Amino acid sequence: MIKTVIILSGGVDSTTLLYELIRTKYMPYEVVSLSFNYGSKHNSYELAQAKETCKRLVIEHRIIDVKSVFDNFNSALLNHLDSDDIPEGYYADENMKKTVVPFRNGILLSIAVGYAESVGAKQIFYGAHAGDHAIYPDCRPKFIKHISKAALFGTYNQVKIAAPYSRLSKIEIIKRGKGLGVEYANTWTCYNPTKDNQPCGKCGSCVERTEAFFKNQLKDPTYNDVGWQKAVENYFQVI
Ligand SMILES: [Zn+2]
Repeated sequence: MIKTVIILSGGVDSTTLLYELIRTKYMPYEVVSLSFNYGSKHNSYELAQAKETCKRLVIEHRIIDVKSVFDNFNSALLNHLDSDDIPEGYYADENMKKTVVPFRNGILLSIAVGYAESVGAKQIFYGAHAGDHAIYPDCRPKFIKHISKAALFGTYNQVKIAAPYSRLSKIEIIKRGKGLGVEYANTWTCYNPTKDNQPCGKCGSCVERTEAFFKNQLKDPTYNDVGWQKAVENYFQVI
């Protein structure tokens, strides 16, 4: 068994990747899931679902609290008193850049590399996907290639970082997830949960997720019927 760390946000991409690692018979991995509390507005929603998924799959789950690291960072995604509101619209729109947390994935990956080295894991899986490329520089293949090299040269164990979904869209990821039996009710994506703890259906993140379920002819199980109808209507308004 190869000890492996997966960064599990609790969203669609990393959850599908986790299912793929443990359900694919030819992959002899002993998986540890690593999640981060970094102080985003939707962090507690994501972490709760990540926890449920690990329980369901009987996988070790570690949550690392790095909230204070991001206290002085500027992003609409962070739960600061003076942070901007989460923008609504299409996920690749220019105004979505407000939700970028500067170098977040570079920082979290670096911590994951140190953790992997500490527990004798030689491989890290990271669920970045093609839809992230438009606004998140630290999700692009070029960045992943270079940080992978840094991890390899910066550890005794020669820790490798793999991002197998980096050229897949969320539509393609959910298509894979359908075949793997991923329980998507135990995932969270929305950046701006409503007061009654439902996904807003309007932030860029919700729009991308809605598109992916809709194009796979699936209903997103995190919505009730009325909420899903509204999310689909909103999707057709913003594309
Ligand atoms: Zn939303």
